[in-house]
Amino acid sequence: MKYLIVGGVAGGATTAARLRRLDEECEIIIFEKGEYISYANCGLPYYIGGTIEERDKLFVQTPESFGTRFKTEVRTMNEVTSIDRVNREVTVKNIRSGDSYTETYDKLILSPGAEPVRPPLPGINQDGIFTLRNVPDTDRIKKFIEERRPKHAVVIGAGFIGLEMAENLHQCGVNVTIVEMADQVMTPLDYSMAALVHQHLKTKNVEFFLKTAVSSFDRENERIVVKLNSSKTIKTDLVILSIGVRPDSRLAREAGLAIGETGGIVVNEFMQTTDANIYALGDAIEFTNPVTGTKMITYLAGPANKQGRIVADNIVRGNVKHYHGSINTAIAKVFDVTVAATGVSGKQLKKLNIPHISSITHSSSHAGYYPGALPMSIKITFSPGDGRLLGAQIVGYKGVDKRIDLFAEAIRRGSTVHDLAEIEHAYAPPFSSAKDPVNIAGMVAENILDGTTKIVSWRALADNVPDDDYLIDVRTRDEFELGTIEGAVNIPLDEIRNHLNEIPAGRKLVVFCGVGLRAHVACRILTQSGFSEVYNLSGGYKTYETANQKQGNEDIFEHNYIGKDDNIYHGSQEKAPAPFPEAGKIKEVNACGLQCPGPVLKLKQSIDQISDGEAVRIKASDAGFYNDVRAWANITGHELLDLTQDGGEITAVVRKNKPQILNSSARGGDGTTLVCFSDDLDKAIATLIIANGAASTGKKVSIFFTFWGLDVIKRRKKPAVEKDIFGRLFGLMMPASSRNLGLSKMNMAGIGSRMMRRVMKKRNVDSLEGMLQTAIDSGIELIACQMSMDVLGIKAEELIDGVKIGGVATYLERTESANLNLFV
Ligand code: FAD
Repeated sequence: MKYLIVGGVAGGATTAARLRRLDEECEIIIFEKGEYISYANCGLPYYIGGTIEERDKLFVQTPESFGTRFKTEVRTMNEVTSIDRVNREVTVKNIRSGDSYTETYDKLILSPGAEPVRPPLPGINQDGIFTLRNVPDTDRIKKFIEERRPKHAVVIGAGFIGLEMAENLHQCGVNVTIVEMADQVMTPLDYSMAALVHQHLKTKNVEFFLKTAVSSFDRENERIVVKLNSSKTIKTDLVILSIGVRPDSRLAREAGLAIGETGGIVVNEFMQTTDANIYALGDAIEFTNPVTGTKMITYLAGPANKQGRIVADNIVRGNVKHYHGSINTAIAKVFDVTVAATGVSGKQLKKLNIPHISSITHSSSHAGYYPGALPMSIKITFSPGDGRLLGAQIVGYKGVDKRIDLFAEAIRRGSTVHDLAEIEHAYAPPFSSAKDPVNIAGMVAENILDGTTKIVSWRALADNVPDDDYLIDVRTRDEFELGTIEGAVNIPLDEIRNHLNEIPAGRKLVVFCGVGLRAHVACRILTQSGFSEVYNLSGGYKTYETANQKQGNEDIFEHNYIGKDDNIYHGSQEKAPAPFPEAGKIKEVNACGLQCPGPVLKLKQSIDQISDGEAVRIKASDAGFYNDVRAWANITGHELLDLTQDGGEITAVVRKNKPQILNSSARGGDGTTLVCFSDDLDKAIATLIIANGAASTGKKVSIFFTFWGLDVIKRRKKPAVEKDIFGRLFGLMMPASSRNLGLSKMNMAGIGSRMMRRVMKKRNVDSLEGMLQTAIDSGIELIACQMSMDVLGIKAEELIDGVKIGGVATYLERTESANLNLFV
């Protein structure tokens, strides 16, 4: 028998090896259009980052070693260009010589993989913009980094590979900005889980823009100018396009094989295409998702390798093995956190109208009392009727891999949450807890299913707490002080039995604590005391707070400068770092293993025990501590001298300052903020005059353009954008750009504004457009109000370059550091 294989990496090489192990006599030829076969795609980002030091380690086999071991002819740099199914022969182009030839087959195996998406954006083909798919791509990126020593890179697309690249570039000493079109990174995750990753990326000083697309690329000297759809531009040295991949099904399509709705090659349960003599596998095929019953493609090495074995067995032994599909089990290291998912996410189930319940639990990687326990957040989705497990996601530090594999196997076997509660696991304190996080996820889900607990999701409270809800925060008073959900009353768990009379009967009670455990106890007390509508906030305040925080991390490199030593520094060159207290005056505190707000409370107690000027060095493992300690130092007036995170352990050094009362003016800086609400020409000019004047005195100035004020920053020549009927109507009724603004008084159908412009020109006063340019040049921040844009149907592309889109939180944040706030 003669077998031809197209593609010599994950699927192709595995199939060839198994074929040979089953049939010593057959003839096997692998065609690979690239130079290499059987290499570790998954290791490429880590070779770029330097974790894998030797390039040779990427190659599992060379064409020669593979050929010898498996008696296989490996033809690299040979591309199969067409398939003649009638005569069972392929046409092959030898890329080195340019010659074409044909080769016949008894069975043909297609494992051509996927190709990266490279959208036709203006300027995308210039030097310094890369995709990463194979070894030559890797060599090009590595060489670019070694020769050009980039200081900054933009990674477009925040999928698993995009984030791995972000981490590895960061490891090379490159500042990284990620641009992602979705409102979250890693789309297989649900938003609340991705929010944990966002907060972690912030601690690593990775800049990222969410809900933002790249519209074009330009060049300014040596640098690439990345233009975003928000009108912002980023100047960078290197761009990695990681927008996604699509199945490489061209060959199959042209040969008349069936291609599915997802673009993948259609195969039956034996992995045969619509031609019985042609099998296909890997990234290029479409199959049925065993959980949802819908068609899907998976771009993962595990399935490709396992399919290779099935294909070889079916070819040699005659269709003896069924392929049961994959459930997209994936894992990635994102700096210090491990992110994993399997099965179907909540948002995907919602999209497919599949009834489901979601539950979030926060556990520890092992027993909290044994040193080194780190947090682990788990979200599972399951069927409301029988409790069948549909999906699981985990964000944590240690032990995520073994838990996700348990969930994956449970899903594949059709297990229920009751099975999860009973899963037997090996336990000793360094490895797990007597109830493993997987058991806990199952037990909580069981409680939901059998009605022991009713839950609400953080989303139910995200925008507005419904009027009828009565929120009870059962954490301690100290925890409550540090932050809670607006409107919540604080009744600590251990006091709740004494306050039952004060809790309104007949209202819906939403109870919450840090992660959901204390609230569960409180819910049980309340339910058994006669309250009927009692709900636990799933995932507790931790999930609510993480998901409701600002998710993006924009403009963090704005004030960076390159020092004399060629390193990148943040802030003003003149400002010296605050000195540490001398040795012996720093109290060492270990708060590892404590969940939020334990570390902050421990910090407070420790600070209370030292004298002014002395410091506390505190180590914590709770991820939220990174932000909490900053906020706490701000609120209390103590000084945060250092804050680092390494492998899930956060270390902060806080110096005790004399007690001080921080009033608003003391807290405010010397910045200036202006709200431009009006599109009257005179008011717009006044706004710009004040702003430019303030900027000239060295103040940090921000102008927030809201409602009619947006007309001031509209482009004159706007690109065509899609609008709904209201957007189009508003567009017709409102001034097209700053050139069409009228005066607030004596406009006289536009005569007044034209007169005003003429007089200004005569008196050598800059025009409104000139003032806007001056504002941009002098670093004034122009913020367009997102909400007003949505209401008026104004798109980011219609605004002038240099405008940032922001919400009211952005504006309020700026007012915090300003002592002059004006509304025009
Ligand atoms: P590939 O392994 O891509 O092999 C296809 C080969 O076919 C290519 O070498 C191509 O040159 C060749 N070919 C295509 N057309 C022709 C033709 N007409 N003639 C001759 N040759 C042809 N997966 C994970 O599970 N975990 C990870 O951590 C992970 N990390 C990754 C990191 C990176 C940077 C990349 C690029 C991928 C990663 N993957 C990961 C995905 C994984 O590598 C793929 O899912 C897997 O390699 C798919 O196997 P395949 O055989 O279908 O395709």
